[in-house]
Amino acid sequence: MNVLEERILKDGVVKEGNVLKVDSFLNHQCDVELFDAMAKEWAKRFAGKQINKILTIEASGIGMACIAAKQFHCSVVFAKKYKSINIDGDMYISQVESFTHKETNQVIVSKKFLNEDDRVLIIDDFLANGAALQGLISIVNQAGGRVEGIGIAIEKGFQPGGKFIRNLGYQLESLAIVDDMDWKTGTITLRKQD
Ligand code: 5GP
Repeated sequence: MNVLEERILKDGVVKEGNVLKVDSFLNHQCDVELFDAMAKEWAKRFAGKQINKILTIEASGIGMACIAAKQFHCSVVFAKKYKSINIDGDMYISQVESFTHKETNQVIVSKKFLNEDDRVLIIDDFLANGAALQGLISIVNQAGGRVEGIGIAIEKGFQPGGKFIRNLGYQLESLAIVDDMDWKTGTITLRKQD
């Protein structure tokens, strides 16, 4: 069991509506030593890939993406969320339906920071239905870059995103996969990984 999995079992809180709260260590208060261990694990799993940029989405992905970037010696670009904006030609843009807030955001990245030379590792904190990842993949495709891999902290394996993204052929590495959780009992069941 890796350190993230241990921490989820110790401090993760299951909420109604298939939401796992990990704000004491991952996405409100940030345990940077944990982020460092996660970054090293992603570096191992994506060894040999020519990654020159990490792309994430604000806000929760930014901290872990920055720590991961130290392993890959590259920059981080984070997609910004807006409820609606007037698009000018300088932005890549996609629509993302938020799992936690049930609203659709426009997600944008400036054309200055992503282009056809980029070999991108996408990083995010959670994978549920896969909407956030599809938005980020679309942005890399608009730029003409290549998605070399996708690193997720926590995949909820009982939701469809992981299967969908793997079926598209991407190397998706989730450090913890929750196969089941029950808000009434607080039980969290993790998938066994090598
Ligand atoms: P998806 O787009 O895959 O449906 O959901 C991924 C996004 O929704 C992540 O960026 C994350 O911010 C949020 N999210 C999805 N499920 C959870 C969850 O169980 N807990 C928390 N804290 N965030 C979640």
